[in-house]
Amino acid sequence: MSSESRANTHAWPEWLPLRNDLKGQSPYGAPQLPLEVKLNTNENPFSLSPDLVAKLSAAISSSAKNFNRYPDRDAIELRTELAKYLNSTTGMNLDVDQIWAANGSNEIIQTLFLAFAGAGVNSLGFTPSYSMHENIARSTGTNWIIADRLSDFSIDISSALTQISKLKPKLVFITTPNNPTGTSTERSDIRKIIEATAQVGGLAIIDEAYAEFSEEPSNVKLLDEYLNLVVIRTMSKAFSFAGVRVGYLSAAKEVVEALQLVRLPYHLSTPTQLLAKVALEFQGELLAEVEQLKIERKKVVGELNSLGLNVVPSSANFLLFSIDNEKKIWQELVNAGVLVRDVGIAGHLRVTIGTPSENDRFLAALREILSASKGEK
Ligand SMILES: *Cc1c(COP(=O)(O)O)cnc(C)c1O
Repeated sequence: MSSESRANTHAWPEWLPLRNDLKGQSPYGAPQLPLEVKLNTNENPFSLSPDLVAKLSAAISSSAKNFNRYPDRDAIELRTELAKYLNSTTGMNLDVDQIWAANGSNEIIQTLFLAFAGAGVNSLGFTPSYSMHENIARSTGTNWIIADRLSDFSIDISSALTQISKLKPKLVFITTPNNPTGTSTERSDIRKIIEATAQVGGLAIIDEAYAEFSEEPSNVKLLDEYLNLVVIRTMSKAFSFAGVRVGYLSAAKEVVEALQLVRLPYHLSTPTQLLAKVALEFQGELLAEVEQLKIERKKVVGELNSLGLNVVPSSANFLLFSIDNEKKIWQELVNAGVLVRDVGIAGHLRVTIGTPSENDRFLAALREILSASKGEK
């Protein structure tokens, strides 16, 4: 269990008709501490360029007088641009009716649970992974089955296939590159899981939030082969757009049609749709920054290794590294103005790749902490 889903000690008042199954829960969320170097939520560290900011402002200015009207309920223009983006980066030929967009991929995930799961239905994921899959399973009353990973964080494929055929989950989640480990799942294992899930009438959901940071081909490629595959993407990471909240998926058009039965009408605001379209126009500039982050990732891995720390191989914009006394080190980094993430894996911390100067500050602080603790021994 990750540290962000602690048991709630809050005592709810008698009069509040809160669902029984929620009473022991606490809200999801990494600590938002006002520190100078924030490397805890895998955001893109680069702020938006003046050019992009100007275009975003102009888009709002020219449409603001029409904010008395509801937005395009089906976000057709945005979904068309998202299809173009996926097609140009994967060589696919996806149609707008194979794309759905929402307020962050978290809303995408929630919409999937609402349409395809719920009380009495099983869903399955491979832990450690992104805890929102499990949290949304819980908030929609869906059973969540934890399938374990091996010690190198890869999926135990034979046990996965057994669990899928026995427990018949309607939704099976694979996050690749995985959060919080950074590791990728091999294409051959992904195929086996999609096929086993099809056998039991379920959908395989691949969360590709970090796809742009990976050298491996996107699983969007597999949509031509498998009807029961859903690939989720987000603009929160590679596109530097976490504050705007845009996530999307690609899947068979029947999946997208089904989601429209449960989505809220006008869920995606006019500003959100406009801003996302502008960001997609700037994809060249934004994806160039992704390349810079990959170079920084390599640098930080090298530096952590030179401090004697093991780093889990990462295809994402963060690193999971081994360290003794992780809770104490986390606090000492906070004291030095650097926020990383304790993801609840014993002997590990996760650090997001920041700007070159943020990474240097993190590494300098860590070096100092480790040499001070050596001195104490
Ligand atoms: C960060 C992240 C997301 C992004 O969620 P948004 O709601 O799009 O901001 C989705 N999935 C995983 C695995 C993530 O790490």
